[in-house]
Amino acid sequence: MRTLDSTTSLRIAVQKSGRLTDKTLNLLEGIGLKFDDYKRSLLVKCLNFDVELLLIRDDDIPEYVQDGVCDLGFVGANVVEEDQMDVEILRGLNYGVCRLSLAVPKDGDIKKPEDFAGKKIATSYPGITKRYFEKKGIDVKVITLSGSVEIAPRLEIADAICDLVSTGNTLKANGLDELINIFDSETQLIKTNKPLSEGKQQLIEKILQRIEGYQKAGKSRYIMMNAPQESVERIKEIIPSLKSPTVMPLADNGMVAIHTVVPLSTFWDVMERLKEAGATGIVMLPIESMIA
Ligand code: ATP
Ligand code: ZN
Repeated sequence: MRTLDSTTSLRIAVQKSGRLTDKTLNLLEGIGLKFDDYKRSLLVKCLNFDVELLLIRDDDIPEYVQDGVCDLGFVGANVVEEDQMDVEILRGLNYGVCRLSLAVPKDGDIKKPEDFAGKKIATSYPGITKRYFEKKGIDVKVITLSGSVEIAPRLEIADAICDLVSTGNTLKANGLDELINIFDSETQLIKTNKPLSEGKQQLIEKILQRIEGYQKAGKSRYIMMNAPQESVERIKEIIPSLKSPTVMPLADNGMVAIHTVVPLSTFWDVMERLKEAGATGIVMLPIESMIA
């Protein structure tokens, strides 16, 4: 049997089962990596690259990457920041977006950072929480809990909590008010600082480039439209295109087809202005990947 250490494949740590799992696997598949059924195994071989995935708890990922057991890892910035491991952060991936916030019982007497002095704060992130208050010179008692932190005030284990928040609904449901956001988080791709073979370095470079293309594509839309020839100049002014649009004559006299890429953030605005400029049959398509 193959042991973990005998492989030369690029080994990537991914959360085994949790909020980041599907999004990370979708990203890896979206950049062209193919895998066998990954739900059943701890170590999953990539079918078309010299890559394997190690599926583990997210809390273990920074340490595995620091120690070189894994070369890369996909993990929340909150975990990377908490653990303070010696790893390189390659890039943020804008999913798993959340914040670590201090929350207090509604109508309680804690309103600002200074009010936490002498109070008990329950959290799964004692490192970040302690560092926040140390920096402010405020003395607090941090109680480490591994889960269900939000019920600690009701159980009178703590006066406040410091927990991950995305919508804030869990806090509300537990009678808590979000008071101070102390850390903004998203998923990060991290890399080991242990020396890597030339082959692995090249593969990492390729993966990074593909991720960049995939992320750019997610933020853009391909649009196609028909327009009268005389509108082309006006339409060109409206489109904040990466490159000049493709303009093709149509069989219909005086009409052209225009194809281009627009940033998703400007899409609706552009769409409305194009209609005003005489464009018809405007079609928008998602883009799978975009290489500069
Ligand atoms: P594991 O079993 O792997 O230890 P977990 O319970 O610690 O799982 P999840 O709840 O799956 O972890 O969260 C994984 C990551 O998702 C968090 O570390 C954080 O980066 C991100 N995340 C995004 N939104 C939230 C949220 N509302 N609550 C908790 N985590 C969130
Ligand atoms: Zn965890």
